Amino acid sequence: MTGIKNHFEPLYDQDRNLVGIWLSPELWRKAEAILSPAIDKALEALSPETVKEQPEPIKDWEALSQFWDFNYPMPTDVSCELCGSHTDDWQKDEPRIFRLRSASMGGMVNFQCQECKARIIKKHFKKHVDVECRPFVEK
Ligand SMILES: [Zn+2]
Repeated sequence: MTGIKNHFEPLYDQDRNLVGIWLSPELWRKAEAILSPAIDKALEALSPETVKEQPEPIKDWEALSQFWDFNYPMPTDVSCELCGSHTDDWQKDEPRIFRLRSASMGGMVNFQCQECKARIIKKHFKKHVDVECRPFVEK
């Protein structure tokens, strides 16, 4: 029988921030019946909406970035005029500050602000980006 250290390990990044907990498969198998329902419950409590959210159309975003031929690098920042939320790279946020709703090959990208639900529509042109922020309207 090996020690606890090999079955249960907190994981840290280089700045010593806790980034997760590692469980060994053996430990997981023994504790799964108890842990799994508790984790599902906790996940729902953490993000009640994202559980039911549509997946982001990442493939469309990647297709756009692959065929990107505008005069500037593809922007990854998103800002919400309405509540002031901002990210330099929306894909790096976990959980998301902005969720990708759509991305078209024509350069139109649509995000939703997770804070106030506003739509941020970014239209990419050859030399500039047009950004429009529409408040959330209940349907
Ligand atoms: Zn917002």
